[in-house]
Amino acid sequence: MDAIKNYELAIIGGGPAGLTAGIYAKRAGITAVIFEEKMAGGQALNTTTIENYPGFESISGTELMKRMNDQARKYAVIKETERVENIKVNQNNVLLTTAEGNYEVGAVILATGMEHKKLGVKGETELMGRGVSYCAVCDGSFFKGKKVAVIGGGNTAAMEAVYLRDVGCDVYLVHRRDTIRADQYMQEKMKKTNVNIILDSVVEEIYGDKFVKGITIKNLKTNKATKLDVSGVFIAIGEIPKNELAKLAGVKLDERGYIITDENMCTNVKRIYAAGDVTGGVRQIVTACAEGAIAALNTTEVLGKQYPF
Ligand code: NAP
Repeated sequence: MDAIKNYELAIIGGGPAGLTAGIYAKRAGITAVIFEEKMAGGQALNTTTIENYPGFESISGTELMKRMNDQARKYAVIKETERVENIKVNQNNVLLTTAEGNYEVGAVILATGMEHKKLGVKGETELMGRGVSYCAVCDGSFFKGKKVAVIGGGNTAAMEAVYLRDVGCDVYLVHRRDTIRADQYMQEKMKKTNVNIILDSVVEEIYGDKFVKGITIKNLKTNKATKLDVSGVFIAIGEIPKNELAKLAGVKLDERGYIITDENMCTNVKRIYAAGDVTGGVRQIVTACAEGAIAALNTTEVLGKQYPF
């Protein structure tokens, strides 16, 4: 194992919250490293069009995150594909272990975000990557001209459905209730783009052999099961917070698993802060950025720096 590497601050997660924290940390005189287990940019990378990030009337998630990433790199070391596996909080430092080595830091910001919730039906795991997907932007183009199902009734499901229509798919949105949760704007977009909507229905099985061939849907009002032949199934039923490291560090979570912080983004554990989707709330890019900035500036307290404002 490599020798211990020192930074004043480690930011875990390279989404909007983590990247913003990196920018603010350096500007407050703090040396920071950002660990991102995949690619810097986080889940926002997979958002088709962002129309509510001030300053950009409309921008793709890929483009916005590329800009944030390029900017953050000027301020912090970004370690992509380096997953933090362990965290140990001591009186005077925090020790982190990754596959690449050990790190000693004075403070940590957990900006670990969320992960896709699974449907938990037969065929979902078996056919993942072979017709089952959690990301229309990543996989949608493989299904051009084909029939696909989107599962869920929230904003993500609605966005995925509209995106898949734009790609040229015949789209069926399957939702378990009789009311769609997505906001009015997205509901209208679905109507305009002729997304077929199947309400009061749950998926019982995703079937196929090498690739997805269809889904079995049960109508909850009639109890009748029917088959819908589709080549792709895009699951968009929400997300769950990635809180494993928070648990290891003894950080308090709420009943849904989100990290509890005060208004300064401090957790109950000294030296550990949190920002972004993993703290719950409205889970928007703009609020994640704001929380990243607040967290970074507040780490000055435990790092013995002068608060910059
Ligand atoms: P969400 O709002 O929690 O919606 C999840 C949807 O999946 C709900 O319709 C839910 O049904 C359904 N669902 C949950 N578990 C299910 C299960 N086991 N089986 C079948 N259906 C299930 O999640 P989201 O759409 O990912 O959005 C997350 C947050 O990000 C929201 O705050 C959203 O507004 C925000 N977001 C915003 C934008 C934007 O601003 N443009 C875009 C994307 C996301 P019920 O309705 O019955 O609960």
